[in-house]
Amino acid sequence: MFWSALWLLLGRALRLRCPVCGKAPMMRDWFHVKERCPACGHVFEREEGYYTGAMALNLVITEGVVAVVVLPATLLQAPIIPVLAIAILGSVGLPLLAFPYARALWVVVDLLLHPLDE
Ligand SMILES: [Zn+2]
Repeated sequence: MFWSALWLLLGRALRLRCPVCGKAPMMRDWFHVKERCPACGHVFEREEGYYTGAMALNLVITEGVVAVVVLPATLLQAPIIPVLAIAILGSVGLPLLAFPYARALWVVVDLLLHPLDE
């Protein structure tokens, strides 16, 4: 039950669809989440400060990816300039690319922790 719900919600979130119904896009544009789902009416931002967890999720995911690339390169003593360039570009660019996905994944985390039927 939990795992099937998790995969369903994750699939919808990774397509940036409403995790509740999967019928409508949840983003107005790349950096703005719609107030509610046009198909099912689910309010995405359940309370003020709701997306603080999404920011933390975005930070952990993107800096984790940068660390996975930069740490081995550093340990293998790769030239420092390209490693720094990758680290800087990754630290700035990946959070922007991951922004809507972090928000959608945060809605999934919230739905798993606080199901709608409670
Ligand atoms: Zn919906």
